[in-house]
Amino acid sequence: MPELPEVETIARDLRGLVAGSRIVGARSNWPPTLRSHAPEAFAGAVAGRDIEGVGRRGKQLLIWLGPVGPPADADGTRPAVLTVHLKMTGQLFVVPAGTPEDRHVHVVLALADGRELRFRDMRKFGRMGLYGRDPATGLPVEGEAPGVLAAGAEPLADDFTARRFAALLAGRRGRLKTLLMNQDFLAGVGNIYADESLWRARLHPLRDAHTVRPEEARRLHGALRDVLVEAVERRGSSVDDYTATEGDGSMQEHLAVYQRAGEPCLRCGRSIHRIVVGGRSTHFCGWCQRLPAAQRKAVAAVLRSETPSRGPDGRRGPRWTELSGEGALGRTPDEEVRAADRAAERARRVAATRKAAATRRAAARAGGTA
Ligand SMILES: [Zn+2]
Repeated sequence: MPELPEVETIARDLRGLVAGSRIVGARSNWPPTLRSHAPEAFAGAVAGRDIEGVGRRGKQLLIWLGPVGPPADADGTRPAVLTVHLKMTGQLFVVPAGTPEDRHVHVVLALADGRELRFRDMRKFGRMGLYGRDPATGLPVEGEAPGVLAAGAEPLADDFTARRFAALLAGRRGRLKTLLMNQDFLAGVGNIYADESLWRARLHPLRDAHTVRPEEARRLHGALRDVLVEAVERRGSSVDDYTATEGDGSMQEHLAVYQRAGEPCLRCGRSIHRIVVGGRSTHFCGWCQRLPAAQRKAVAAVLRSETPSRGPDGRRGPRWTELSGEGALGRTPDEEVRAADRAAERARRVAATRKAAATRRAAARAGGTA
């Protein structure tokens, strides 16, 4: 899923492409993409608005729309904000109207200058919402979009100081990795930059947050800001389905641990480990990112329970690691889907072989009696 640097890159690209353009219409072929309106009502609510700018809050884009026209006295004439959550596979493109589109394009905003802003989303988890805008903050008017935007601190904001981060951490229970990815704690950090910042700060992803000492919190604060700033400069990490409107990023070539399991640590040369925490794969160096002694034993027990135990029938029983929730270690949801696909494929092959054999037997019988 695109994280802060990727969404920031898309916001900057889009700003250059569409700020100042007027929306003249909209269409949508998949109603769940629109959080706030049915497709026809959405088209009516955006038509006639100018795109005034594009920003970001956490992992979501904010597209600021002007009022429909003077005087700004009725509800439909308020300034608005369109929130866009790309989730796993959402992509935004600006193309001339008439450019061929595939079936994964779910929302199209038609612009007065003959171009279209298209939202393409293979897995359909992405969401857009249109709300009245608070002119002071650029965010939806208080109470209009409950739960839509992250509540956590913006890690690149001026007021996100090391002191403030240490204070936020001090009151928290739970593992560092899980906490960094909690959008109501910190907005915009996901799997890639949580792993990278913990490696840079030499902190173990399973470390209990409340045991982090002030100088460690300062290190993590610095690592978070550094890795996010570097990633924004490199236009993000082009992994999975992420592509920015005006081209891919290059941060994936500069990641130290993410998706480098088994490769040497860039600091000490030992192998990078991969475990699954809260359904997300987690990469770290067991040497550079050590746990305090007090926590080491508990985590060793958890990691031992990762070893699958098999019954006499060759099937494994339920594992501790398959418990859901943030405590779970085991397979990621993607890996679960792939494993289920493989099992279904095996079942299909077995059924096909049986059917073919039955057909051959029937043919042989028919031949024998003819
Ligand atoms: Zn290392």
